[in-house]
Amino acid sequence: MNNEQNKIPQATAKRLPLYYRFINNLHHQGKLRVSSKELSDAVKVDSATIRRDFSYFGALGKKGYGYNVEYLLSFFRKTLDQDEVTKVALIGVGNLGTAFLHYNFMKNNNTKIEMAFDADPNKVGSEIGGVPVYHVDDLEDYLQNTAVAILTVPSTEAQGITERLVEAGVSGILNFTPARITVPDHIRVHHIDLSVELQSLVYFLKHYPLEEEEGE
Ligand code: ATP
Repeated sequence: MNNEQNKIPQATAKRLPLYYRFINNLHHQGKLRVSSKELSDAVKVDSATIRRDFSYFGALGKKGYGYNVEYLLSFFRKTLDQDEVTKVALIGVGNLGTAFLHYNFMKNNNTKIEMAFDADPNKVGSEIGGVPVYHVDDLEDYLQNTAVAILTVPSTEAQGITERLVEAGVSGILNFTPARITVPDHIRVHHIDLSVELQSLVYFLKHYPLEEEEGE
C-alpha cells in the first residue's frame, strides 16, 4: 500500500479490498456509477459508513447520481497497489496450505503465491497448483523480495518459522495457525483462526439470532 494509506483510518482501510472487489465487478459489467445504497446491499456495510469511508477517498457522491465507478476503481488500484503484484510465500503444505495453493487469488487482487515450503521430503520438490514446494531449511535462500507469508504449519512450529521469516525480510504474515505469534513492532500480523471464527458464528446464531425483515 502506498503512503496515501496513512491518512485513512485502519477500519476503513480494512474494508478497501471489499469495496475494490465489488467496484471491479461493476466496472466489468460496464456500470458507470453506483449509489451508496447499492454498495451497502452488496458489501453489507451500512451506507453511512460507506459515505464516511468514501469521503476519505476523496470520492464525493452526488445525490441522485452516486459515485463514479471509474474514479473509485483507479483510486483503489492506486491505493492497494493493484498494478504491482505482491509476492507471497506459503509455509506448510498440509490440507489448508494445499487448498490455498490451488486457490486463484489473482482473480480478485494482485497477490500471487510464488513459492511454498514444507519439511516433509515427500512434498519437497513437487509442484502444487503450479507453485514449487521447497524445503523449509532453504527458506532464506528463496525469500528475496517476498513481502508476505502465509503460515499454515502446525502451531508448535509457528513461532520458530515466524522468526526466520522476519529475519529474511518478510513484513506481513497471515497466520492461519491457532498460535499467537510474537513479532517486532514493524511487522504486521493478521491472524485468522478458522475454528474460532466458526465457533463464534455458531455462538452468534444461538444467542443473537437475526430477525427477518417484514415483507421479505
Ligand atoms: P492443516 O490441515 O492444518 O493444513 P495437516 O493436518 O495437513 O494440517 P499439519 O500437521 O498441520 O498437517 O502440518 C501442516 C504442514 O506443515 C504439513 O505439510 C507439514 O509437513 C508441514 N510442516 C510441519 N512442520 C513444519 C516446519 N517446521 N516447516 C515447514 N513445514 C512444516
